[in-house]
Amino acid sequence: MYPRSPLESIRKFHNELTLLRRDLHANPEMGFKELRTSGIVAGALEALGIEVHRGIGQTGVVGVIEGKKTDSGRMVGLRADMDALPITEENEMAHCSVQSGLMHACGHDGHTAILLGAAKYLAENRNFNGKAVLIFQPAEEGLGGAKAMLSDGLFEKFPCDQIYALHNWPALPAGVIGINPGPMMAASDRFEIKIHGRGGHGAHPYQTIDPIIVAAQLITALQTIVSRNIHPVESAVLSFGHIQAGSPAAPSVIPSHVTLIGTVRTFSDEVQKTVESRMRKIIASTAEAFGATAEINYQRQYPATINTNKEANFLADVATELFGADHVVRDLIPSMGSEDFSYMLQQKPGAYFRLGQGGAEQGKLLHNPKFDFNDEVIPVGSALFAALVERSMPLEQKQ
Ligand code: ZN
Repeated sequence: MYPRSPLESIRKFHNELTLLRRDLHANPEMGFKELRTSGIVAGALEALGIEVHRGIGQTGVVGVIEGKKTDSGRMVGLRADMDALPITEENEMAHCSVQSGLMHACGHDGHTAILLGAAKYLAENRNFNGKAVLIFQPAEEGLGGAKAMLSDGLFEKFPCDQIYALHNWPALPAGVIGINPGPMMAASDRFEIKIHGRGGHGAHPYQTIDPIIVAAQLITALQTIVSRNIHPVESAVLSFGHIQAGSPAAPSVIPSHVTLIGTVRTFSDEVQKTVESRMRKIIASTAEAFGATAEINYQRQYPATINTNKEANFLADVATELFGADHVVRDLIPSMGSEDFSYMLQQKPGAYFRLGQGGAEQGKLLHNPKFDFNDEVIPVGSALFAALVERSMPLEQKQ
């Protein structure tokens, strides 16, 4: 087992971290507006004597902790996200959101508290040879805060050798670590299809080019990309989230346009390219077959979150050492959700892991108005972050 487990030390300030987490929960802020949160983070780091850099990715904060030695020249990055979601909280506990229409429904309050817990332990002990870079990222929820930090020179200023991040996971039991040496989350693309026909009277469809019929063909035909064009052991999802045509007040009018909006999720570049190119072909030729025209606006949003093998296995080994093999799932099934830590993993080796927190069976799901982060797992996350720093930059090199 781990000689001096950071878990025991971090448990001593579990209460302090819980209070901090609950304060963040009560005061959620949207992406790039985390002024109060980033102020609290920066203040907490400064109070620990940690070098603080602000304004990286607007509201982003970076703290740098030097180990007892730094002659290894190494740097390990740990990242937490800080933003909340535009959801009205439906919980009734004392630390409920004070902002109507805004809540920490994804547990980023917990992630921030966990990284501050690791910061406190690392700053007080400094049992490593190198530098720990604590990355408090804004705007993970759809606004690309990770990309903003990278554009502001995050890895030029702090050239990390490896990077790690976590996300709480209600579907895993509390305190269990889940990881996969490869894909963890999917690439997320948005598409918007516009079909142009010729509108007219619903009683005289032969005089029109009905774009609704074209849309109906496309909705089913595009699903064949997943079932017929993608290798059966690869993964892809194509879902429509919005259809717009005509007016409910005009049931006997065939409209001239239909708009279809949806999402594509994939893990590999090759599958992503296949889906996009098959969509373009099917859309153009289906529209043509009916005498209509159509175009697609296909936007790549977050890339896939892919762990590097070595770092994912290293993380699983460290977690096993700290918590026991029965608390580590080494082949967690990837999620088709997406995450902007992917941008950082495109530049540096590293791993993104799940921290089980239970509650899924009680409906405490991510992005749900009844979600609340499970404070019991804060020390587990902090200890693993701290151990990753100590283990990857040990003070004594093994002979
Ligand atoms: Zn999240």
